Amino acid sequence: MDIWDLLRPGGPTGSMTSRLEDRMVDALRHTPPARAPAALQNDVDELEQRVDRLTLLNAALWELLRDRVKLTEADLVNKVQEIDLRDGRSDGRIRSTPKVCDACGRTISSRHQRCLYCGGHTGSAAGIAAKPRH
Ligand SMILES: [Zn+2]
Repeated sequence: MDIWDLLRPGGPTGSMTSRLEDRMVDALRHTPPARAPAALQNDVDELEQRVDRLTLLNAALWELLRDRVKLTEADLVNKVQEIDLRDGRSDGRIRSTPKVCDACGRTISSRHQRCLYCGGHTGSAAGIAAKPRH
């Protein structure tokens, strides 16, 4: 059997061919359409605005805590390092925990609302790693 047999309708093993066709159709169905450059620029602008708002909010929260609760910069740095290490990596990022598909049990990214393997809905909401995994 060669690759061309797989493309022939009802090829040498019809069930394998239809499974491959199903998987190809499924993959195409889950591929997001390409976005125009203007739409991508809008996305970047919106993300920059959100980052700016979050930065401002964090600065306000930090100054309130520093002034009213008398926390120090060292307290802040220690807490950042503690939270950063919750996923086992010191990479300056906070990662959301992966979800498990309710239908097939596979692990999928928290960014997806549907399972990429079976198309099922994912029940558990995305969360932030709350405890160290040691
Ligand atoms: Zn699934």
